[in-house]
Amino acid sequence: MSFESLGLSHNIIQSVKKLGYLKPFPIQEQAIPVILQGKDLMGIAQTGSGKTACFVMPILEKLQNAEVKKDRNIQVLILVPTRELAIQIDEVFRAFTGNLKRDIRTMAVYGGVSINPQMKGMFGVEVLIATPGRLLDLIEHKALSISEIKHLVIDEADKMFQLGFGDEMNKLFALMPAMKQTTMFSATVDDKVSEIKERLSHNPVIIEI
Ligand code: AMP
Repeated sequence: MSFESLGLSHNIIQSVKKLGYLKPFPIQEQAIPVILQGKDLMGIAQTGSGKTACFVMPILEKLQNAEVKKDRNIQVLILVPTRELAIQIDEVFRAFTGNLKRDIRTMAVYGGVSINPQMKGMFGVEVLIATPGRLLDLIEHKALSISEIKHLVIDEADKMFQLGFGDEMNKLFALMPAMKQTTMFSATVDDKVSEIKERLSHNPVIIEI
């Protein structure tokens, strides 16, 4: 199996080869076509499985062919439990953004640092990678809106609950549109993870690695 056979464009594949990825990992083989087709997905996978590229590549593939949006409405939201993961995911997005059909801005926001630069940098951002508390703060400050997102990714969903972000996530879910594509990844699936999977996704394809 090759990246070419998964339905990705040449420019995306060029970037992935630059990262040194020669062929897709098993989870990527399964997940990338599903996400490209617009279906909801629940991936049960550990860190190190290659789950980040599973959503980064198809999201950029679809966005680069979509209409340009330059406002404060985020198109794609990636919710993560930690600052480190937010930064890591943004780096993977940035490995691709230099070689897309159009300019797509991504940004990582998290707590523990000043909110002002994050507020100022928000205009025109299409892909936001965020921890829940800081995202709520930014929305309260009217720095951005998540009411028009087309795609929601929740990465490390189990860790979100372990770190006590359940209430914050519920507040965020209430601000999102009902119609959106949902992609979730979790290393383990307990009742809380199952509940948000049921609530947010429609007939999700389940992939377990
Ligand atoms: P992740 O689980 O997304 O954090 O990825 C784990 C590690 O695998 C990261 O260092 C990635 O750069 C690397 N990786 C992801 N996909 C591939 C691939 N297809 N080939 C080689 N390395 C990869």
